Amino acid sequence: MRQDPRQFAERIITWYHRHGRQDLPWQQDPTPYRVWVSEIMLQQTQVTTVIPYYARFMQRFPGLRQLAEAELDEVLHLWSGLGYYARARNLHRAARTVLDEQAGRFPATLESLMALPGIGRSTAGAILSLALEQPLPILDGNVKRVLARCFAVPGWPGKADVQKRLWSLSERLTPPTRTRAYNQAMMDLGATLCRRANPLCDACPLMRQCRARAEGDPGAYPQAKPRAQLPSRKVVMLLIHDGRGRLLLEARPQSGIWGGLWGLPEYTDRAAAEAGLAARFGEVSQAIDWWPQRRHTFSHFHLLITPLVVRIGGQPECVMDGDGRVWYNTNEPDPRGLAAPVSRLIEELKQRLEERSDEPYGGMR
Ligand code: SF4
Repeated sequence: MRQDPRQFAERIITWYHRHGRQDLPWQQDPTPYRVWVSEIMLQQTQVTTVIPYYARFMQRFPGLRQLAEAELDEVLHLWSGLGYYARARNLHRAARTVLDEQAGRFPATLESLMALPGIGRSTAGAILSLALEQPLPILDGNVKRVLARCFAVPGWPGKADVQKRLWSLSERLTPPTRTRAYNQAMMDLGATLCRRANPLCDACPLMRQCRARAEGDPGAYPQAKPRAQLPSRKVVMLLIHDGRGRLLLEARPQSGIWGGLWGLPEYTDRAAAEAGLAARFGEVSQAIDWWPQRRHTFSHFHLLITPLVVRIGGQPECVMDGDGRVWYNTNEPDPRGLAAPVSRLIEELKQRLEERSDEPYGGMR
């Protein structure tokens, strides 16, 4: 079915003015910087989750210069819990590039924005249309879903030919004026009505022309990624503490999972963990406690974490053997980026120690 792009956009924009979201924090004073940060945070993450992170981030880094001049550790700290930390590293790197190479002037063309780390075509289009009203199409997850359903586009959008078809639909339908309202409307429609499960078709401005609805099964579009079973990887994480709230953390390498964050010492299995412990601290078998395994799922694998809690005696400083290690005070945590599972383990340790503070070694045996 051929759609008249003007009619399509008109319907969407009219709906937006009545029902769309117009009071999101990044819609107030939508500078390219503010919109950029919001777009990066919103990748893979829901609006309600993002809002408090965004508020804290903007309070600390109200402009590009403050972000560029900050230490990565502090940026990661403010990102802790949002996941997908490469986003934060790229944001920081891009801010430094703009400050160093473009005297802090935020790029205002698609090509120059896409040259920055972490900014793809859709994100660049969103920044320029939402902040500067440039007539550029977008294709984020919400827009993909609306278009795939409305035009019954078969196939998984991760495939190049499906992606190409969706981009060409988005290009054709995006109006040359009022692009800010149109793009925001498409994102809102996907987030609030054309939801992944249980779309609210009866309230949708596209209900009459939507092919997926006419076919009676909107959920069939877009096609899900053909799923291979996720592989698993095992790791032993050591919670080495001194019983007084200090815990050993190690800096993780810049690349790989949780790159640049602080984490717990890790070993591949129990035997390696016990051998490593003996090498570091000598005999500690009276003060160790194995906790049950828990699972953290990444997009491409499951991480099966077995925590090993170790209370050491004496002065913790005596085991410091180089850079990239720190005794972290869990009672007065400093700004430091921690992956969510590591934060959860630290919290659990604190709770257990509080509950069992009358037992030797904080109750760990
Ligand atoms: S009619 Fe339903 S499936 Fe079609 S675009 Fe609207 S909400 Fe999505």
